[in-house]
Amino acid sequence: MIPYADIPVAYFSMEIGISSDIPTYSGGLGVLAGDTLRSAADLELPLIGVSLLYRKGYFVQRIDEHGNQYEEEASWDPERLLEPLPNAVSVQIEGRDVRLKAWLYRNDGITGHTNPIIFLDTDTEENAEQDRGLTHHLYGHDERYRLCQEIVLGIGGIRMLESLGCTGLRKYHMNEGHSALLTLELFRRSKAEDPWEDVREKCVFTTHTPVPAGHDQFPEDLARRLLGSFVTDELSGEVFLDGRLNMTNLGLRFSTYINGVAKKHGEVSRSMFPGYHIESITNGVHSTFWTAEPLRKLFDRYLPGWEADPFSLRYVLSIPTDEIWEAHQEAKKALLAFVNGRYQAKMDLRTFTIGFARRAATYKRADMLFADIGRLRRIAEKCGGIQIIYAGKAHPKDWEGKQVIKRIHDSMQAVKDRIRVCYVENYDIAGAKLLVSGVDLWLNTPMRPHEASGTSGMKAAHNGVPHFSVLDGWWLEGHIENVTGWSIGAGDTKREGMHENEVEEMYTKLEYIILPRYYGDPGAWVNTMRHAIAINGSFFNTHRMVQQYVLNAYFK
Ligand SMILES: *Cc1c(COP(=O)(O)O)cnc(C)c1O
Repeated sequence: MIPYADIPVAYFSMEIGISSDIPTYSGGLGVLAGDTLRSAADLELPLIGVSLLYRKGYFVQRIDEHGNQYEEEASWDPERLLEPLPNAVSVQIEGRDVRLKAWLYRNDGITGHTNPIIFLDTDTEENAEQDRGLTHHLYGHDERYRLCQEIVLGIGGIRMLESLGCTGLRKYHMNEGHSALLTLELFRRSKAEDPWEDVREKCVFTTHTPVPAGHDQFPEDLARRLLGSFVTDELSGEVFLDGRLNMTNLGLRFSTYINGVAKKHGEVSRSMFPGYHIESITNGVHSTFWTAEPLRKLFDRYLPGWEADPFSLRYVLSIPTDEIWEAHQEAKKALLAFVNGRYQAKMDLRTFTIGFARRAATYKRADMLFADIGRLRRIAEKCGGIQIIYAGKAHPKDWEGKQVIKRIHDSMQAVKDRIRVCYVENYDIAGAKLLVSGVDLWLNTPMRPHEASGTSGMKAAHNGVPHFSVLDGWWLEGHIENVTGWSIGAGDTKREGMHENEVEEMYTKLEYIILPRYYGDPGAWVNTMRHAIAINGSFFNTHRMVQQYVLNAYFK
């Protein structure tokens, strides 16, 4: 039995990536939520996760021989992986009553502590056909569909927690603005003399979006139509600003603790939202989940107990370099076996392998490595060889993102007699695990300051894979040149449009520093690998991050 009444913290997220076979996430936000929940369970912090079921997932990505992405529906079996709960609640949407059920995922930590994760589901017989599909697709359809989902998540989520018997909740953590309607439901229920203060006291808001255009918002008339009388006259002025329902604004307005997800992102958020007190807690990743088995075994041998206490990864500095190298070779073999088997990529273990994988959003500039194909070819020839492995999905409606995938595909053809390149389809948690541990260098080229934090480089660091990245997000904190990896371009975010300089620096460092070290000075190379783990793995993990939330936000 789960003691719902004793749980003090509820964590709301539009997406949660808790397991490779539960496809209810699209990218970094959901994987972060999954890592957070895993760490909370390991630390025995009683916390309940709330999200939507997404019976049809996000989508399965296929890429044809011309480099065109097309989408297939994901399918999975909630019945096999989750437990249906008997509870049911309803929300009003457009005047109709929409019934919600819930599914339970038992999130077991390493000490045996179990935290519940609740996935809300509108696919029940009592609902009208159009409402049954509301929890089918993550980020699907139009903005009306999205707002319906956010009503289910925020308002329905609070009602479900009550129905489950969560009477001891003191904090509601909104992982990004999608769940921010929960503040209005809490307001409606508040019996306090000052309901504003009461709600603010209970809410924690984490923003993830460093550019104004990225914030989730809806036209006022649409919101009024869907929400009906839920938004009272008293609240109208707070809820609608400039004719829009802005979810970030709701989160900010109704939370006492607000944070960005890296130090720089905290600063950017403070200038974007003057008048709010905004802190920062830098993201992390779940250490054990993201460390490949050969390295896990090595850490088990030298650092017993590291799984419960990833701070002790600091002592990786005492592990002999040849053992780190051997463990990495094992991880690399697993990745190469996959790409060679699945895509006939013909990659070999000796060749320096660069990895780039993340959502194919344009600001990530996935094709920057191919900015000057002639130069890249010359570097590969001169320095001993390069292989490149790519992965990443474009949102089905992101035409520009799809173009980026196509350009990479075309560039692959242009270099293929000299450089083997493979684009792995359908980037997901399982693929990410292989990639972040199996390549030799993790490349990241976001346009500053768009990368609020970024987490895949932290996963690579746990596996001793150095990071080569534009100085944005977490890398401003984790970067020590030549020690944990390398920077691309300067770190001042005041000047934009530095694309040419960044391209130049990327090639120069590959040619004169990174490749010569890999092929010519293996001792120095493995030392960089070791420092990536010791300095960055020991800090950029969700155990540390959750402890900061506990100290600063949950129990202050
Ligand atoms: C970690 C992860 C991401 C996020 O990577 P970023 O570098 O933060 O963009 C996206 N998708 C998957 C499947 C991941 O595991």
